[in-house]
Amino acid sequence: MNLAKNLIQELMPRCEGCGKPSPSFLCTSCLSIERSKSSFYFGPVLRNSWDQAHISFDYDSKVIQNWLWRIKEKSQAERLQDLKFEHLPPNMLECSYDAIVAFPGDPTRSSRRLFDVADYLGRRLAKLLGQNFFSGAFVRRAFLGTLKDFGVNERRAFITKLVSLRSGFLPSGRLLLVDDVMTSGASLEWGAQLLKTRANRVDVYVLARKFISK
Ligand SMILES: [Zn+2]
Repeated sequence: MNLAKNLIQELMPRCEGCGKPSPSFLCTSCLSIERSKSSFYFGPVLRNSWDQAHISFDYDSKVIQNWLWRIKEKSQAERLQDLKFEHLPPNMLECSYDAIVAFPGDPTRSSRRLFDVADYLGRRLAKLLGQNFFSGAFVRRAFLGTLKDFGVNERRAFITKLVSLRSGFLPSGRLLLVDDVMTSGASLEWGAQLLKTRANRVDVYVLARKFISK
C-alpha cells in the first residue's frame, strides 16, 4: 500500500522550484516568484529592428536555468510541453500573428541534440496561441566553433554571415520570431531585420532573457 503510494508520488510531475507535486513545472507560488524576478522584462524591449519583445523568464533564475539545461543539454524536447498559457507574458496574448517563425540554432548542435530548440518552441507556442507556425523560415550554415567567446559586435557581424532568409519564405503582415534565450539580442536583431523585408510588424518572443552587465 505504502509502496504503491510512494510510486504514484514519484511519478507525479513536480514543481521545478520547490519540488512539491504540481501539474505545471512551476507551482502557483513558485510561478509568482519567477514572475516577480522577471517583471522587469515583461514590458516592451525596444530595438530598431523589432517592434516588441515578449519574455517569459529571467535567465539568471536557477530554476529556469535548470529547466533549460534539461531541454538543451539533456535533449529533453518533451520538457517544452511544460510551457503553458500562464507562462506567457500577458501583453503577448493580446496580439495575433500571421505566422510564428523560429530563429534557427546551429545545425551541427541541432543534429546532435536531434531537435532544434527554437523550432520546437515555435510549434509549442503556435499550439498554445492557436496560431500558425511556419517551419524553416531561415537557412543557417553550420559553424564548428563557438560564438560564446565573441563580443557583442563580433557576434552581430558573424551571425549575418551564417543566417539568411529561405528563398521560398512567403509569410508577411505580422510575424512573431521566437528563440529560447536572448543574451546580447544580436541573433534576434538580425532575424527581425531579415523578416522586416517582408513583414510590416515583427515581434520577438524568448523563454528567458540573460541580463548582461555592461
Ligand atoms: Zn513550487
